[in-house]
Amino acid sequence: MYKDLEKKVVVITGAAKGLGKAMAERFGKEKAHVVLNYHTENGDHKEIIKTIEAAGGKAAAIQGDVSKEADVKKLLSFAVDTFGTIDIMINNAGIENEVPSEKLTLEDWQKVIDVNLTGMFLASREAISYMLDHGIKGNIINMSSVHDRIPWPHFVHYAASKGGVKMMTETLALEYAPKGIRINNISPGAIDTPINAEKFNDPKAKQEVINLIPMGYIGKPEQIAACAAWLASAESSYVTGMTLYADGGMTKYPGFQAGKG
Ligand code: NAD
Repeated sequence: MYKDLEKKVVVITGAAKGLGKAMAERFGKEKAHVVLNYHTENGDHKEIIKTIEAAGGKAAAIQGDVSKEADVKKLLSFAVDTFGTIDIMINNAGIENEVPSEKLTLEDWQKVIDVNLTGMFLASREAISYMLDHGIKGNIINMSSVHDRIPWPHFVHYAASKGGVKMMTETLALEYAPKGIRINNISPGAIDTPINAEKFNDPKAKQEVINLIPMGYIGKPEQIAACAAWLASAESSYVTGMTLYADGGMTKYPGFQAGKG
């Protein structure tokens, strides 16, 4: 636990399930004040709010689509109106769908870019603007993916969006380092969340993924939430513009394990 996270105001997008939920609950344990953005989920955030409050934190939720500028502005205003400020912005909401690239429609391409890249830019811009106006040495954390560096056939729009998120993080980190605003990236490998449920319910497909992970198992959402808590805390106070690969070694060329190659 990080004492300095107590009462910090944390905004998390896509927080009703998966990694967003795990991070919301982790910040609850840190006794932070958590603002959850949810999209189409029907009431799942209510249980999460109860869990956060039971752990000693505070929480509130608001619906919104991160690819819509007005919704993003509403989310940040809601955070300020509810808890008085914004200290930590976590851009987590993301989508993916498998399509061979020659069949990928402009609509599908645009949708993934809009949510995964433009959505993270909009919330980063709004949070930075608020932090600058109020002299807050805040923190922004973007949820990228190992596919910001591992090419991923059939997911070209996803890989392009995550590559964009990594470079956006590095550029914004450089731009706002003099103001004390730290901006970092987490790039998870394969984690057990609803986005992967179909794949991991098929034992063969699951094993194929495990074969790509040197540590030999699928990651847990709590392991990513722990990275987010560290990056948001003062324990990482000299870290900015970093991409933290939390991937069980997936980006370390598993094909070369055991001296192959
Ligand atoms: P998930 O599908 O379980 O959750 C994604 C969340 O984003 C959902 O709550 C969904 O409602 C929300 N969302 C989708 N579109 C939205 C929109 N337009 N506006 C607001 N919210 C929206 O997936 P997850 O595994 O928890 O993924 C979270 C993030 O982590 C994503 O950015 C994903 O790309 C990234 N990631 C996940 C993994 C993994 O293995 N699970 C690996 C690498 C990166």
